[in-house]
Amino acid sequence: MLKVDDYFASSVFSRKAMEKYLPNAIYQQMLQIIEGKKPLNEEIADIVAEAMKEWALDQGATHYTHWFQPMTGITAEKHDAFIHPANKGEAICRFKGKELIKSEPDASSFPNGGLRATFEARGYTAWDPTSFAFVRDKTLYIPTMFFSYDGSSLDKKTPLIRSIDALSKAATRLFSNMGYDVQSISTSVGPEQEYFLIDKNFFDQRMDLQITGRTLFGAPPVKGQELDDHYFGSIPGRVKAFMEEVNQELWKLGIYAKTEHKEVAPCQFELAPVFTSGNLSCDQNQLTMEILQKTARNHDLVCLLHEKPFKGINGSGKHNNWSFTMNDTENLLEPGQNPADNLRFLTVLAAIIKGVDEYQDLLRLSTASAGNDHRLGAHEAPPAIVSIFLGDELSAILEAIANESDYIENIDTHLDLGVSILPPLSKDTTDRNRTSPFAFTGNKFEFRMLGSSLNISCPNTILNTIVAEEFMQFADELEAFPKDQVVDRCIGLIRKVLRDHNRIVFSGDGYNDEWVQEAERRGLSNLKTTPEALVHYTDPKNMNLFLRHHVYNVSELHARQNILLENYSHIIVIEARTMAYMVNRQILPAVMEWQSELSSLMERKAALSLSDSYERKQIEKAADLVSRASQLADELHQAVESRPDEVRAEAFCCSEIILPLMNQLREVCDELETIVPQKHWPMPDYSEILFAQLEK
Ligand code: ADP
Ligand code: MG
Repeated sequence: MLKVDDYFASSVFSRKAMEKYLPNAIYQQMLQIIEGKKPLNEEIADIVAEAMKEWALDQGATHYTHWFQPMTGITAEKHDAFIHPANKGEAICRFKGKELIKSEPDASSFPNGGLRATFEARGYTAWDPTSFAFVRDKTLYIPTMFFSYDGSSLDKKTPLIRSIDALSKAATRLFSNMGYDVQSISTSVGPEQEYFLIDKNFFDQRMDLQITGRTLFGAPPVKGQELDDHYFGSIPGRVKAFMEEVNQELWKLGIYAKTEHKEVAPCQFELAPVFTSGNLSCDQNQLTMEILQKTARNHDLVCLLHEKPFKGINGSGKHNNWSFTMNDTENLLEPGQNPADNLRFLTVLAAIIKGVDEYQDLLRLSTASAGNDHRLGAHEAPPAIVSIFLGDELSAILEAIANESDYIENIDTHLDLGVSILPPLSKDTTDRNRTSPFAFTGNKFEFRMLGSSLNISCPNTILNTIVAEEFMQFADELEAFPKDQVVDRCIGLIRKVLRDHNRIVFSGDGYNDEWVQEAERRGLSNLKTTPEALVHYTDPKNMNLFLRHHVYNVSELHARQNILLENYSHIIVIEARTMAYMVNRQILPAVMEWQSELSSLMERKAALSLSDSYERKQIEKAADLVSRASQLADELHQAVESRPDEVRAEAFCCSEIILPLMNQLREVCDELETIVPQKHWPMPDYSEILFAQLEK
């Protein structure tokens, strides 16, 4: 049997593979290109393309594809074979630099939010050499960016790369000013991925799961998660086999899948990789989600990535662990060992606190989706209010600095460079608060608002951009003063930020209702639904931010806003239609069958002069619920068909009119489910789905 380290990254055109297949001089240049230190040229591209092709053919590949991340949130690919016609009807395998660098997929059917008129349907993909090509299913996958004829981004990857550049530029300026020799700045991201696994047999019997990824009906199961007996429990054999296969696939692709465990809800699990660079981690998380879903099918399981597959049962999120590093080794979120580095750490922290406070709306909207609206604020995930958790120790130190008061003996809050300003922080104390949306966890921030199915590029784009902005402002301020005043100025900046932006720091229980009121008193925003959040994308303050850092241009921003709002409405409308279909064609006919069985029983009982009080009670209850369900289904149909056309109005109609109607309809049907015999109910119920098969 092969050992893991023998096949790890064997399907990746990694540095090791490049070293083997490329002439040394070109390999050295490629390393610089990967690190963004040197631009690509056509001559190198030709040589790399040839080497990549040779390597891919050695892995058994027959095709190649430009792999990209359109605004649908999932990945897209179009395969071309390597073969070209040769003499006498033979074929040769060919792959040129220009095919590697650029491609023109027929892109007219991807969402573009008005960026491309249909007559100008051309879209282009361009190789992203900072990520790695890989072979999967006999195809060479080339990570690419996707853009329109005029160069506007049509994808999720391009803005992320731009934001990493913006952060790098601003950080280089700031830290150079502070006296550091800055060679490079990079981001690190480790996304923890939650998901559900259910038996395929149940999935196949539920139209709602098949079409929308979540259950639109379902009375609570007889047992939920109240015993807390699932979290970290032993993993059943069938799931273990699935995880083994997932790990093997991921390891072959060079993804450091590391931690796996049972989550809080029944049938819920988590997979966490070791963190990697910001751009690569996004590609790898997309691959991870695909592989989880594909592999599940090999085990007669279905992997649900929806944020809320089951009402009343915890939904799934994705924790985005994020930090950034200077000169490849120094984590800028690591509290320093010496006073000067402590000053740098506190400056970084101040910039993040200021950025998160000023751009709460952007962070919130970067995680907004129809699915995630069911989680945020539902006592299982952070609320829709953004706040920062720093841990008691760090909060107390910062407060002392802000107030110029002493905290504990060995901290000199006057920040004299001769003494330590931060005592060693015990990492354990920083991660006790699971209810915070944005928590400092020792040497990174953990952004916990993300839904499980989200492409992580947008939240990371926003994080990088807002920190770039604050770094730039700090650098502007420091540059205005002579070098020997830098320390004093930094301390002044930190103090001012802590005083002005203290409202965003919150250490209490984020799931508590009192926090909602407290946050309102503090003036924090609470954008409960996706449309409410998304309208802020184009606020002048946010627009200026993106323009200043060249992350989005004006039309890209408007396009994104439109696409996301439209996508939200599409999802709600599909859910509403699925509900109406299931009520009219599955649930009500099933109830009628049972009613007819009951009424013939009642007739037979009457003939025998037996009491039919039980049957009468049930049939009356059912009759009442049936007529309410049918009326609500009609109202829902009406609401869907008469919704406005305009993008924003449609989205708000979905959140304010259609969704509440769906909830009412569901409530009535769930009540019906509790009285209709199991054999008549037209789909498997929560107790069956969540507790029947997996444990075998
Ligand atoms: P938990 O949040 O469950 O306590 P860990 O602290 O082990 O788990 O880390 C969770 C994720 O954070 C992992 O993907 C890990 O690789 C990632 N991570 C750890 N350190 C960093 C860092 N400096 N920057 C970004 N991600 C990190
Ligand atoms: Mg975590």
